[in-house]
Parts: sequence; C-alpha cells; structure tokens
Amino acid sequence: MTIKSEGNKTQQVKVSASPLTFLQLARETPTKRIADERKIDFKEIYDDSDDTQLANQSSRCLDCGNPYCEWKCPLHNYIPNWLSLVSKDRLDDAAELMYQTNPLPEICGRVCPQDRLCEQACTINTGFGAVTIGMIEKNITDRALAKKWRPNIPTIKANAKRVAIIGAGPAGIACADQLARNGIRAVVYDRYPEIGGLLTFGIPGFKLEKHVMRKRKEFLQDIGVEFKLNTDVGVDITFQEIQETYDSVFLAMGTYKSVKTDLPGFDSGKLINALDYLIGNINHQEQFAMTQFPEINLNGKEVVVLGGGDTAMDCVRTAVRQGAKSVSCIYRRDEDSMPGSPREVQNAKEEGVDFHFLLAPAALNLNDDKSVKSLSVYKTELVINKDTGASKLQQVKDSGFEIKADAVITAFGFKASPANWFNKANVETDKNGLVKMKASENDSLEYSQRTSAHGIYAGGDMVRGADLVVTAIAEGIQAANEIIEDFEELTE
Ligand SMILES: Cc1cc2nc3c(=O)[nH]c(=O)nc-3n(C[C@H](O)[C@H](O)[C@H](O)COP(=O)(O)OP(=O)(O)OC[C@H]3O[C@@H](n4cnc5c(N)ncnc54)[C@H](O)[C@@H]3O)c2cc1C
Ligand code: SF4
Repeated sequence: MTIKSEGNKTQQVKVSASPLTFLQLARETPTKRIADERKIDFKEIYDDSDDTQLANQSSRCLDCGNPYCEWKCPLHNYIPNWLSLVSKDRLDDAAELMYQTNPLPEICGRVCPQDRLCEQACTINTGFGAVTIGMIEKNITDRALAKKWRPNIPTIKANAKRVAIIGAGPAGIACADQLARNGIRAVVYDRYPEIGGLLTFGIPGFKLEKHVMRKRKEFLQDIGVEFKLNTDVGVDITFQEIQETYDSVFLAMGTYKSVKTDLPGFDSGKLINALDYLIGNINHQEQFAMTQFPEINLNGKEVVVLGGGDTAMDCVRTAVRQGAKSVSCIYRRDEDSMPGSPREVQNAKEEGVDFHFLLAPAALNLNDDKSVKSLSVYKTELVINKDTGASKLQQVKDSGFEIKADAVITAFGFKASPANWFNKANVETDKNGLVKMKASENDSLEYSQRTSAHGIYAGGDMVRGADLVVTAIAEGIQAANEIIEDFEELTE
C-alpha cells in the first residue's frame, strides 16, 4: 500500500481495502476553504471529494459487525453496506442503497451533526478518527443527482389515494417521498415560495447551498410529488377544504415561536430575532422577494449573538460574512454544554467569532436616540449538588459588566406555534402547544404519528419540539408508513 502525503492533503493514491485499512489510513475530510476566503461569501465551505478520497475513506470502515453508527443514525441507514459499495467503486449501487432509508441523503450529509450521531458512534472514532460518513453520503448522492438518477418506483395511478401534506420542510418532504414510492399521490402545501422549510428559509448557504434543494425538488416532482407553494393553509385555503379534497392529511409545520425573556430593555423592539435575520439574509441572497423578511445588514456593526445552538452559530457566521466589525457569541453555560454541533462552533471560531461562555445577559441598554448601546451581562457558574450530582447554573455575585454592542441578536430557541384551526379539526396539543400523538392501540407500537383526529397525522418539530433535520425525516417516513397501513386496513 502506498500513501502519498502532501501537507494536510494525504492519501492521493487509492489503497486496496482490508478490515485494518484504518490503521494505515488517517481520517481525511474534504478540503475546507480557508477562513479568510470563505468568510466573504455564502458558498459551502467544503470542496467535493474525488474518487480516490471516496474509495480510501470508505475503505476505513472496519465492518465491526455491530454497527453502532447505524443504530445511532435516526434513520438506521445501512452505513457499513454502502461504505463497502463505495470502496469497491460501485457508486450508483451505493446511492441506491442510501436512498432506501433516507429521502434526503445529500442534505443529511451536509447538515447532520455527525459528531453527535453516526460518526460519534463509529467504532474507530476513539483513537483513529471516525469514518467520514456524512461527507461520503453527501458526495455519492450529489453525483447521482447530477446524473439525474431516479429510483425505479411504481407510477402513481390516476385513481390513487391523495394525501395533503402541510409544510415542505424535511418532515413533509420525507412523507411525500415515501408516499410516492408506494404509488400514492402527495400534494405538499407551503406558505413560502420554495420547498425546504428551515433547510431553505433558516440554514444559510455556507452550510447548504440552495441549488441543492432545487435539485431535490426536480427529483420529487419527477417521482410524482406535487407542490402548491405560496399557499398558507388557514389563510389562502381553509383546512376544511383540504380535508374535503384529500383522503388523509400530514401536518409538518415546524415550530416558529421564538423563545423570549423579559429582561430590562428586551421589550424595546431593538433586539434582532434570529430567524428574521437569517431569512432576511437568504431572501436577499436568493432574491425571493419576500417583503415580510427585509435584509438586516450588520456590516460595520459590533454584533452580539445570545444563544449556543445551531441557530446562534448560523447567525454569528452570517454576521461575519456581512462584514460586521466584530461578532461575539454569549452563552450562559460552558462550551461542552452547547447544544449545537462542535464542528460548527469550530468553523465559527476559525472565521473570527469571539465566544464568551458562562456569561448571561441582564439588560439591553439604549443610547438617547434609542439605538443599541450595550448589553449588561453577568458571569455564571455551574454548581454541583454533592448529594444528587445534579448541576445548577447560578449567578456569580458582583460579576456584572457591560459589553459594547450596536446590534444584539437573540437565538434562544423555538416554541410550538399551533395553528388556530387545530381545535376545529380536533387536533389536540399538549400544554406546550406540541401536537399530541394518539396513544398506540396495541402497546407493541413504540410511537405513532397519528394525531387525536382521524385521518390526520403529524411529525417533525411540531411534534418533537425544535430538533434536527434527520429526526424530522424519520417522522415523515413513519407517518407515510402509517397512512399506507391505515389505507390498507380500509380496503381489507
Ligand atoms: C437556523 C437554524 C439552523 C438549523 N441548523 C440545523 C442543522 O445544521 N442540522 C440539523 O439537523 N438541524 C438544524 N436545524 C433544525 C432543523 O432545521 C429542524 O429541526 C427541521 O427543519 C424541522 O423540520 P420540519 O419539517 O418539522 O419543519 P420546518 O423545516 O420548519 O418546515 C415546516 C414548513 O411548514 C410550513 N408551514 C407552516 N405552517 C404552514 C401553513 N399554515 N401553511 C403552509 N405551510 C406552512 C413552513 O413554511 C415550513 O416550510 C436548524 C434550525 C434552525 C432554525
Ligand atoms: S442521516 Fe445523518 S446520522 Fe444518519 S448516517 Fe447520514 S449523516 Fe449520519
């Protein structure tokens, strides 16, 4: 086996796979554009992998016999099997296998927090570095879609059952795809002008360029999925009309109520809401002409972002790209407690974001002309209860100080935003507004996507609370399977 090394670019030579390849071959991610170059545009930051890198990296899979990666992946993707196909240059077969369990592999490969999911669970992660599962998933599917690969699925019959899906985010798309694979007509409604939900109107281009979503849309349309965009259910069409037209309905509407705190100055109208900021920027970049989301340009500003999740990371990195004078992220807990992917925190650090951990906001201070002047903050500490082991966050006494800022973005997360027509449709929600799933009729079913209302199903963030793309996909597939099961029961 010959391995060439060139700075941080190694493995130019294709190696022949053996179960112990990982001992000789280091983990290698595709080249990441250098920070100075990438922070001036909104393009993705990783280059594509070439054939050699794909073959070599996939051949690092140990095929350990107990694929923890597969269990940790919420879709239980057949990871070792498709890695083996890639290592043998059977890229089309690998793409086909990826699609069997995942309707959006090129998206998951880009945005899943692999460092908390499949790659974290990879047997060789400790000591050798995990197989680059996400990057391989992305590259193989990108190539298949570029060649206009389409699965061999039954065509939808004219008299097929019709299912309405409300919401074209990952949950809605996954459900539509699974229905189409089974010859069922899915019509997806969304209030926005493009499909994707938060994949399009939330996650910035440097994590997921928007042409990727457009390519997936062509695929979905080719397999028979219909989209009715710019259609807000409850405004442009009533839910009753939808119920009367379709055999079943899947709700996949996400969670859109931003969490707020009532600290002094926070009700001044001067704080920037994270999602308004991100959508405004995407609207401007992609020229969607959504007048309700104007661009908020923070060029030259001293920006502070409050929060430690994916949304906060997307805001800090967007502000960097807009040319902010400085960008700081304030998080009340320590770095290890950050809910987002460590990979994205690292990317933000490389791009020049200052992180302040164990710091919490106390008040927003304004100048006489009502512009933002500064943020009052205090230090926090984690106190461990000796008896229970539980940790509690508390304020450090006399630790308050001010941070100069002329723009403050809040990214404290999202709460459920149930529609006002749920009651009339008998769709029950819990005390937090999340849609309640029907208790399973036989206790053998672990979970169900059936709501309290007959023929109405739900999934994704509106059921789980703000979570992940891959879990929304899993629930969309599950809902489609239950819809099919219920149709079959009716015809028996
Ligand atoms: C800024 C940001 C960054 C994120 N980054 C990541 C990440 O890197 N990795 C990751 O795994 N997860 C990430 N997430 C979380 C992830 O995007 C969500 O968990 C996922 O998109 C939820 O999917 P969903 O289909 O349930 O809802 P959504 O993606 O929210 O889609 C819901 C869709 O329903 C539509 N809709 C709602 N009401 C109506 C109505 N009445 N009529 C018509 N249409 C309607 C909305 O317009 C929207 O398109 C991020 C979230 C945010 C906010
Ligand atoms: S879907 Fe996500 S968790 Fe599953 S294998 Fe792909 S990147 Fe990993």
